[in-house]
Amino acid sequence: MTLQIPFDNSYARLPDRFYVRQTADPVTRPGLIVINAGLAADLGIEAEALASEPGLAVLAGNAVPEGAVPLAQAYAGHQFGGWSPQLGDGRALLLGEVLDGSGNRRDIQLKGSGRTPFSRMGDGRAWLGPVLREYVVSEAMHAMGIPSTRALAAVTTGDRVFREGGAMPGAVLTRVAASHIRVGTFQYFAARCDEDAVRLLADHARTRHYPQADTALDLLNAVIDAQARLIAKWLGVGFIHGVMNTDNMTISGETIDYGPCAFMDRFEAGKVFSSIDQFGRYAYNRQPDIAVWNIAQLATCLLPLIDPDQDRAVEIATKAVHRFPEVFALEWLAVFRAKLGLTADPDDEDLAEADSHLINDLLSAMETGRADFTNTFAGLATGTADRAFADPAPLAPWQLRYAARLAQQGGADAAAMAAANPQVIPRNHLIESMISRAVEGDLAPFRALLETVTAPFAPAPENFTRPPEPDEEVRQTFCG
Ligand code: AMP
Ligand code: MG
Ligand code: MG
Repeated sequence: MTLQIPFDNSYARLPDRFYVRQTADPVTRPGLIVINAGLAADLGIEAEALASEPGLAVLAGNAVPEGAVPLAQAYAGHQFGGWSPQLGDGRALLLGEVLDGSGNRRDIQLKGSGRTPFSRMGDGRAWLGPVLREYVVSEAMHAMGIPSTRALAAVTTGDRVFREGGAMPGAVLTRVAASHIRVGTFQYFAARCDEDAVRLLADHARTRHYPQADTALDLLNAVIDAQARLIAKWLGVGFIHGVMNTDNMTISGETIDYGPCAFMDRFEAGKVFSSIDQFGRYAYNRQPDIAVWNIAQLATCLLPLIDPDQDRAVEIATKAVHRFPEVFALEWLAVFRAKLGLTADPDDEDLAEADSHLINDLLSAMETGRADFTNTFAGLATGTADRAFADPAPLAPWQLRYAARLAQQGGADAAAMAAANPQVIPRNHLIESMISRAVEGDLAPFRALLETVTAPFAPAPENFTRPPEPDEEVRQTFCG
């Protein structure tokens, strides 16, 4: 069986300085972990061909498929607020692009494929743990209706990767994205005063992601809208990205880079998991503010395209960036209204304010009552939210107000609420134990977790929905 991928590459036609052409470093022994058959079909790729020996050779980087033009993309970025003029794909290669069943252009990228000129001190590799984590979490995000990069396949390499103080099994993830263009891609060229490249990139990104956008300002506004919508959705499922550096924020509005990310079990507004986020820069409730900071960096890159008069460009761009909190507030309200089953006339500003208070007061009650985030919302429709609280006392008075609000609108639509509140998320302790078992060679927990979290609105076995016991709790996450 021959693997055919219907490549139609556009990024590779951009000037040389956008990337470095590079082939993957071969691995010892490609081994199949998983193929995403549904996604493969949508991309016009035969899943069976991917799982065949020649397919695995491609997925491991040992063979270049026909039509691919493998390259490492250049980008820069602010990491925890500090400027890095050159990051780039240090352990990933863009194989090329395909048009999916809806006619949308999608990148196919290998992650963990070996060193590139952007690797700096890194080994260019990934180990099994983060590969399986990204596979499960990105597919769960997609299943919950949250824009995300996808996982097409995961393979083992037969080689060892040194992490966590030991030799871990190496793996390669095949990632699919609307594109891998980041805020940091714009920064890379803007920092080099390469206005031509910024213009080419902006044109490329506009035609690719926002064909309705005619100008650089339209592009900026479209990214603001997409990111505001995305981050509201993150907050709606208790997701903490963990490393919202500008190189990890996409122009497309898809979630990217599942490093130290985590879903909260017990709700805490200022929750941080990542071991490297010492000052809580990327805490749960800071994510919208950080997005503004990142978007301001994008706006800065686009200034020369917005207006030749710099003062005027700054004025226009500042106004656009300041739109973010407003757009975000609306998106956030829409997300949480849906979770609570609240319907409203979108022009009723008094009701919007009252509902925002009602939602925030629920979140406060959850924090004081030490409530499990997912189970509280899943329990609202069935009147069992109190079971998610260690101390349900703070919930009782809130529930009276909630009941009154629902009575005003003639009750809640239980089916709509069920579609807005996942029953199951990839909980950190389940991910950790799944990884430990996979390292021992047992992929059954991986398959079970993947199957459950990719049907997030269906009832799930108790083992997947219960919060961790104290001794199971994951307190810190790492970059992998
Ligand atoms: P991240 O923290 O995953 O957003 O990555 C930041 C930068 O470090 C990017 O340029 C990555 O390509 C690079 N990087 C991360 N891990 C490795 C690795 N193991 N080898 C080489 N480069 C890496
Ligand atoms: Mg990254
Ligand atoms: Mg990463």
